[in-house]
Amino acid sequence: MPETTDKTFENGDETKINYYHAHIYYGDDDAVREKASRLREKAWAKWPGQVRMGRFRDTAVGPHPQAMYQIEFDHDLFAEIVPWLMYNRDDLTILLHPDAEDAFRDHAWYPLWMGEKLDLRLEFLRAGGRQA
Ligand code: ZN
Repeated sequence: MPETTDKTFENGDETKINYYHAHIYYGDDDAVREKASRLREKAWAKWPGQVRMGRFRDTAVGPHPQAMYQIEFDHDLFAEIVPWLMYNRDDLTILLHPDAEDAFRDHAWYPLWMGEKLDLRLEFLRAGGRQA
């Protein structure tokens, strides 16, 4: 089997998606962080107890190249929350990815991006990192 690189892509049929992550990036700009904070409050007000809200990560962690927080949600919210994010992201960059069988593939092959597409630090995932 050829080695997987950043350029490798394979279509998948992975149906064992456990849940989804939306990563909301805000970098090191206070005004952008404020926008991201408002989005976080709105999402929590709309789906209290249904979304699993991550804390603010003010420094880049794992594969994420910028400060961000994550919103984790299950299948049954997908059709509601994804369009809601489209209309409410306020120009923020959002990475949406499935959590299925392999963190590298989930981030490198199967993500949806809203706004600017960032370069993920995929080497964190190839190394077996699960902090995604
Ligand atoms: Zn994630």
